[in-house]
Amino acid sequence: MPSEFELIARYFTHAPSRADVRLGVGDDAAVLGVPPGQELVVTTDTLVAGVHFPERTPPEAVGHKVLAVNLSDLAAMGADPAWVTLAITLPSADEHWLADFSRGFAALARLHGVDLVGGDTTRGPLSITVQAMGLVPAGQALRRSGAGPGDLLYVSGTLGDAGLALAALNGEVLLGGADAEDCLRRLDRPTPRMALGRALRGLASAAIDVSDGLLADLGHMLQASGAGALIELERLPLSAPVRRRVREARDWTLPLASGDDYELLFSVPASRRDALTEVLRGLDVEVTCIGRIEAAGLRLVEAGGRDVAPARLGYDHFAGGPR
Ligand code: ADP
Ligand code: MG
Repeated sequence: MPSEFELIARYFTHAPSRADVRLGVGDDAAVLGVPPGQELVVTTDTLVAGVHFPERTPPEAVGHKVLAVNLSDLAAMGADPAWVTLAITLPSADEHWLADFSRGFAALARLHGVDLVGGDTTRGPLSITVQAMGLVPAGQALRRSGAGPGDLLYVSGTLGDAGLALAALNGEVLLGGADAEDCLRRLDRPTPRMALGRALRGLASAAIDVSDGLLADLGHMLQASGAGALIELERLPLSAPVRRRVREARDWTLPLASGDDYELLFSVPASRRDALTEVLRGLDVEVTCIGRIEAAGLRLVEAGGRDVAPARLGYDHFAGGPR
């Protein structure tokens, strides 16, 4: 049975790739150099097995996902990711599991130039916490507050794919072949929208990452901004299987209220629309205008401008408006 120190040395100690890591794994704490003129942006998120990911999730995907969900928060702040710490609680020292987990984690870290600089390794029910640290030019971090009436509302990627995969895993819907694979990839291996977040600095009036479902996270943005919004349902960016599901079920719950999308939702003043088009050129992510910010309330409209009562769509729990 390998000791805690052997596990750390084997799976969590990599030569730092960044010059700003003065001291990484191996001492009592890491020492990191924050460049003058930059601010440190810090976030943390925990994944608990069976709660935040199905027990069946391949360990390599768990390693990817626990980092991806934290990077997604940095993206929503417009930060450049720099360093992460990893606190992992394991039921046993399963080396196959650890090798796969650390491979998934390290691959995404490398992709975004992030160094693992420390952490903690303990025994207990499987739970993984990452703290991610990023840098942003002073005063330029994106916030949830700042959306104003007339601003256009955008979302990246597509909505509801991870929710559809989860519904399929739970036996609630039938999903086959390539659709099942595509949706499962979205659930297991979310793509943090780092380049988009960075491009939105100085452009977006507000931003948030969509982790708990579009309406829930929009609600957070609206509350922080003291504003309302109008969503045009037909504009929601949907993959083919989600679109089919919405049509068959006559229910928008999947793209509006299922979690784990990890897309960016953001508002841009209408006067900056062309500037947005300009910065999006060259980014490999689709961005869709889904509505606009209003003074108050939340309106969902179908094609032709018909207002849709949330209750009719099967989400009474949103009837009270954004929370
Ligand atoms: P301490 O007793 O001072 O907390 P630890 O034995 O917990 O030290 O950790 C030793 C070193 O290994 C520290 O630098 C710590 O940050 C690092 N470390 C421990 N677990 C992990 C992990 N899962 N990932 C990355 N670094 C880790
Ligand atoms: Mg420790």
